[in-house]
Amino acid sequence: MRSEARIDLGAIRDNVRALAGHAAGGAGVMVVVKADGYGHGLVPSARAAVAGGAAWLGVAFLEEALALRAAGVDVPVLAWLTTPGEDLVPAVAADVDLGIYDASELRTAAAAARTAGRPARLQLKVDTGLSRGGATPDAWPDLCAAAAAAEAGGDVQVTGVWSHFAFADGGRDHPTTRRQAAVFAEALEVAERAGLRPQVRHLANSAATLTAPETHYDLVRPGLAAYGLSPVPQLGGPEQFGLRPAMTLASTVALVKQVPAGTGVSYMHRHVTTAASTLALVPLGYADGVPRSATGIGPVQLRGRRRTIAGTVCMDQFVLDVGSDVVAAGDEVLLFGPGDQGEPTAQDWADALGTINYEIVTRIGARVPRVLLGGMP
Ligand SMILES: *Cc1c(COP(=O)(O)O)cnc(C)c1O
Repeated sequence: MRSEARIDLGAIRDNVRALAGHAAGGAGVMVVVKADGYGHGLVPSARAAVAGGAAWLGVAFLEEALALRAAGVDVPVLAWLTTPGEDLVPAVAADVDLGIYDASELRTAAAAARTAGRPARLQLKVDTGLSRGGATPDAWPDLCAAAAAAEAGGDVQVTGVWSHFAFADGGRDHPTTRRQAAVFAEALEVAERAGLRPQVRHLANSAATLTAPETHYDLVRPGLAAYGLSPVPQLGGPEQFGLRPAMTLASTVALVKQVPAGTGVSYMHRHVTTAASTLALVPLGYADGVPRSATGIGPVQLRGRRRTIAGTVCMDQFVLDVGSDVVAAGDEVLLFGPGDQGEPTAQDWADALGTINYEIVTRIGARVPRVLLGGMP
């Protein structure tokens, strides 16, 4: 093994079970598996989520949804981000629900349905305040009316109405969250008055799943929490919410050598040894998702001790200065994991680098093999 991301599929399954327990009033769970299952592997994560009780899966792009179908995953899947010119026919034919933001997307979906010879399953998105995808509240009544007309014509079936929070990690009482929830409630009434009867209404991401039960409606839509990371680290770590991190990023010391005091280490000599030291070379770099901004600050465990990356993170490698400690080529290096062996967590990396745990796990590169643990299908 040079480097690997160990994926604990049992943890994903159990996290989804825990999230189902957080879902209020019998709401189902749509587990978000976009971006290669937040770096954990699209299809294995999806299967583990379904084993944990996910009734739906959510992805951003059509290829992600079609990859699930090609792998035989047959639960309902919502894909929510298309671009003009994309061919929607394969997605309609594969029974993928499409997120719809405006009249033009609605027309494209209706045309695809006629080509595919079956109604397109659509979930209309209202922009309740994130100002990202979705129809503004001003445009919402017209979108609902057009969708109702298309439904009456038999081209489409409106299966859902949904939205997305801007600041759910600010806690349930954040004014933005309250306002968005109120706008969503109004949008549902507008949809109903237009004659739409969506099976699923959903709004709650991971943070709202854990902290805002009044926003759960028919489905919660967590991504991050399914992988065992806390979306609200300021309120509690994974264990407080019954979650367990599913990814461990491990590498192997490739080379060890002794150098004298005053030795400059890695590009630009940003680290200089203060005494005769042992250096250990680790074969993971920014091409593998170790951010270059981890230069001099990234936490790593080697032989049971926390170390900090010495100097510049390179494309394929970085160096540890272990001082007078004894280490050997072939030793295991843990960048992050659940933390139970004293290793850093993805949250520790996010804190050290001034980013969020989402980015730490999703950026792990294609050169790092995912090794699946947990005896899942
Ligand atoms: C990514 C995403 C989610 C999941 O968000 P988490 O914070 O990871 O739970 C849910 N809905 C939409 C629209 C998303 O883009």
